[in-house]
Amino acid sequence: MQVATGKSILNGIAIGPLRIYRRAAAQTEVSSTLTPQEEWARFDTARVKAQEQLKELYRKALDEVGEDNAAIFEIHQMMLDDEDYLDAVKGILETQGATAEYAVTTTGKNFAAAFAAMDDAYMQARASDVKDISQRVVNILNGQAQSGILGEQPAILVADDLTPSETVQLDKSKLLGFITRHGSSNSHTAILARTMNVPALIGVDFDQDWDGRTAVLDGYNHCVYVDPAPQLLSSMQKKQQEDLKQESLLQGLKKKPNVTLDGTKVNVYANIGNVGDVGLALQNDAGGIGLFRSEFIYLDAKDFPSEETQFAIYKRVVETMAGKKVVIRTLDIGADKQAPYFGLDKEENPALGYRAIRICLTRQDIFLQQLRAILRASAYGAVAIMFPMIISVREVRDAKELLEKCKAQLRQQGVPMGEVEVGIMIETPAAVMIADELAQEVDFFSVGTNDLTQYTLAIDRQNPKLDAFYDPHHPAVLRMIRETVEAGHRHGCWVGICGELGADLTLTETFLRMGVDELSVSPPAVLPLRKRIRSLDLSKNEK
Ligand code: PEP
Ligand code: MG
Repeated sequence: MQVATGKSILNGIAIGPLRIYRRAAAQTEVSSTLTPQEEWARFDTARVKAQEQLKELYRKALDEVGEDNAAIFEIHQMMLDDEDYLDAVKGILETQGATAEYAVTTTGKNFAAAFAAMDDAYMQARASDVKDISQRVVNILNGQAQSGILGEQPAILVADDLTPSETVQLDKSKLLGFITRHGSSNSHTAILARTMNVPALIGVDFDQDWDGRTAVLDGYNHCVYVDPAPQLLSSMQKKQQEDLKQESLLQGLKKKPNVTLDGTKVNVYANIGNVGDVGLALQNDAGGIGLFRSEFIYLDAKDFPSEETQFAIYKRVVETMAGKKVVIRTLDIGADKQAPYFGLDKEENPALGYRAIRICLTRQDIFLQQLRAILRASAYGAVAIMFPMIISVREVRDAKELLEKCKAQLRQQGVPMGEVEVGIMIETPAAVMIADELAQEVDFFSVGTNDLTQYTLAIDRQNPKLDAFYDPHHPAVLRMIRETVEAGHRHGCWVGICGELGADLTLTETFLRMGVDELSVSPPAVLPLRKRIRSLDLSKNEK
């Protein structure tokens, strides 16, 4: 038995085989020992296999996400038949005696650079597609299937790191837990693990030979046991059963109100990242969706999701919530959440960079499309819109003006819409300082404690070395939350918390005493929070 330690981001136990995820190598051997004809034959076999995969992906996408989204896989198939592309690969094989991997990677890079330099936005977006198809062929040449990060069997995923877009693409029915070497506990990948309710460890120095071996991931004790001794395995299985029992006890709290012993009420909502999470929100009896991180729709796509695609997703979420409120946060892309087709530059300080509302106000084509899709979905239930990363009244007014423009257009076209509340995220110290002015512009505030902590304490939430310094209980952060609530209430705004701190049961009493109206947490945290709220008595002095 081998034991390794890390930092747990979700208490719980996972038992199963380990599966090591290796991204296909970016660098490939240049010179080949085979003839150019032999390398071409290798390439052509891989290309045919890639076409088969793409056909299958097209079929699957057509069923699951409609023709609009599926079309990209047809485009990829056409690209792999493109004569210029094939000639370029052949040319490199013949003139440089290169491996097929090198020829394909180089051709992909050259074509991507040529697409990126074009004026037409549609052609620019093809840059990431040509890289994508080339990578698919290289993966096949390297003997790696690209059908999924996880294999057929449920497993504990082990990786150096996982990006948010890789995490959203994981097949959740096969994911028992995950272990990474890098990553911080405040990253979006960690947040996704909490939403999915899978035990996860970060900062684990794993060995490559763990692949396929059985392990116990013990989130309570921050460690993983590889090839666990039989006695340990059976005691961990017992603990896992106890956890299940505890979870089912919590189910008894369903349909009970979120009210303290002295009668103070608070809304408990859920945070979601995609349609699939709505089921989790309902299973855990959330009163609504307090944060729909809409950027995950973009991270999960190969190209800008069209208005129709987004409308279908928002409508599904809103209809499934059947009249319960759904707060949709507009696109918060940038920093750690990157989609290649946006073509965002690499930045020195991404957290302080071109992200969220800054992108939306400058790339209005993208923003207007999203606003229209949300407004159209508002005809099907209770929808609220909130803007992220606000630092000024100007931004709020500009965003609201664009929203009004969309409403006017839709009205003119006779498209039905509902009443939509408008709010902002309070996640910068600037927003806290001008909360009185901002509150006069909107219906509600939602405090994003993840970023508010990062910007208040000047601590990069992505940097694992700073985890020990990232203290969301810091008095400066708590005081900012209090001031936000007070300023919001002075002007008739309701105020919620949608950052991870909302689920911190040691602060529930503090938040309720501040007068917070809504706590929005990952779906598995809803019932434990309800339990905590129902045990509090605010008429007694705070301990
Ligand atoms: C936050 O910053 O607290 C928040 C809820 O947004 P995100 O974690 O997606 O940045
Ligand atoms: Mg944020």
